[in-house]
Amino acid sequence: MNNLTTNCPICDGEINLPPDLEESEIITCDECKNRVVVSSIAGSKVILEEAPEIEEDWGE
Ligand SMILES: [Zn+2]
Repeated sequence: MNNLTTNCPICDGEINLPPDLEESEIITCDECKNRVVVSSIAGSKVILEEAPEIEEDWGE
């Protein structure tokens, strides 16, 4: 499987996605260093959204 990439919702920079990416996972944009959360994954299309400032309210 090829590495997935998508664009940062904040700076529009390209983000490399890990192959084991899961929904609700938070990743950091290499371009703007902002955190973004994985909103949804549909095949090779990954939707990212700007992560809220909350640190510990995601549960397990
Ligand atoms: Zn960015």
